[in-house]
Amino acid sequence: MEKILYQKNYNKKTKCNIWCAFPACKSFALSSLGYLWIFKTLDEQENINVERIYADTKTPQISIKDVDAICFSFSFDMDFVSIFEMLERFNIPLLSKNRNDDIPIIFAGGPVLTANPMPYSNFFDFIVIGDGEDINTQAVSTISEMKENGKSKNEILTKLAEIEGIFVPTLNQKKITKHTAKIDECIYTPILSDEAYFKDMFIIESSRGCANCCNFCIASYLNLPVRFAPYENIIKTIELGLENTNKIALLGAQVSIHPKFKQICEFIYKKIQQKPEIEMSVSSLRIDGVDDIILKTLALGHQKHVTVAIEAGSERLRKVINKNVTEEQIFNTIAKIRQNGLKGVKIYAMIGIPTETTEDLNEIISLANRLKQENKGFDISFAFSSFVPKPNTPLQWCGRFTTSELEKRQQYLKKEFHKLGLKAGFSSIKWDYWQTVLSRGDENFTEFLIDVYKNGAKLGAYKKASKKYFNPDNYALRNYNLDEKLPWDIIDLKPGKEILKERYLKYLNIN
Ligand code: SF4
Repeated sequence: MEKILYQKNYNKKTKCNIWCAFPACKSFALSSLGYLWIFKTLDEQENINVERIYADTKTPQISIKDVDAICFSFSFDMDFVSIFEMLERFNIPLLSKNRNDDIPIIFAGGPVLTANPMPYSNFFDFIVIGDGEDINTQAVSTISEMKENGKSKNEILTKLAEIEGIFVPTLNQKKITKHTAKIDECIYTPILSDEAYFKDMFIIESSRGCANCCNFCIASYLNLPVRFAPYENIIKTIELGLENTNKIALLGAQVSIHPKFKQICEFIYKKIQQKPEIEMSVSSLRIDGVDDIILKTLALGHQKHVTVAIEAGSERLRKVINKNVTEEQIFNTIAKIRQNGLKGVKIYAMIGIPTETTEDLNEIISLANRLKQENKGFDISFAFSSFVPKPNTPLQWCGRFTTSELEKRQQYLKKEFHKLGLKAGFSSIKWDYWQTVLSRGDENFTEFLIDVYKNGAKLGAYKKASKKYFNPDNYALRNYNLDEKLPWDIIDLKPGKEILKERYLKYLNIN
């Protein structure tokens, strides 16, 4: 069952129809704050009808023949597979050049495309670069008006290209300025559902971006400047959530960065005291931003575990990525988490950070061992991913270590963590490799992506397809030259390539 938390008009008098599409199943869509909020902002427009469709939608209510545009959410590199499947299910050609004026306008937005839209530029009629909530509404209003006036797809796309943050690949635009929205309004889950992956969870975005600018972090670099929802709006929004559910979560790249974070936690703490069934959770916490009040609130709000990210075991390597937390801070924070009544902590870390040596790996093993000794009976686990260089971050120029080298390092950690009796999960080095290829890709990826999709999109399909089109090591392993033109240079966002270069040179020289 769904509960709609905004004013919905069920009797719109318009002929313009949009599908708001999510490239995964319904339960994930109903837990995606970004997707649901985009849907809400579109649904509030009087001049369009909008329907949610998912990867598992069989029969949409609005027939494809009546749809004017389809807006896809694109959050993960591999989402293209599901997007292609959805397009083909409705007999829509994958390539924009093969779609005539009778076929809906296909567009997309999301962090993957904001960081680097080039590998996907031949599939979408236009791409939203940056925060989508206000651009999407502007774009669909333009589509609605111009369709009503009988304008052609080309005329509509030419008009759309005038909007800041809209990239129309066929128009040969030289630079696309990322659109940065104000977050005066506090963004929240507008539709609660017991079918959601996080059932009936009310998520609140208290801040967007993170000022820490760790050198690999796309969540930080794509969302500069950091913005905070006003405190009063957050409180009002929490009230709205608690009138409708007992499950609330605060979301942000770094939630504790909000200037009034303590007061927000105190407010929730009092609410839970009055109504003990309330459950409260947060996305991961930063080691140097953990206050007693947030931990007390989480413990009272039925949380058993929290997640913190240290990224690297040695202080030297943490400096390389600009994650300036000391060992002392790590120990103090874990002790604080334990003392405040939580049962355990999950620690995120990475292997294969540029310049990583065996000594750095040994330091994380030693750190894990000492944390275990000092926190007996406390459930400590680790989750390791491998470094993926992301466009528009200072480490964008760094290639990965080879897959065999990373697998060797991963095996070493697995063995040592097993000996310590500590739980540790590991991402797939091979999938991280292909994720890197996609994130550093360019406009020559069109045939490759189609080939991967047509052949089932498993690891073997990537390998086989790449043999026909390019050497993937050139994308995944190569250190890009500081002076070379990068595929994503077309995107203009702060702080800009020159600053990224300065940071790259400064941090990679840390010994
Ligand atoms: S603290 Fe976390 S969210 Fe902030 S920049 Fe670093 S990794 Fe990204």
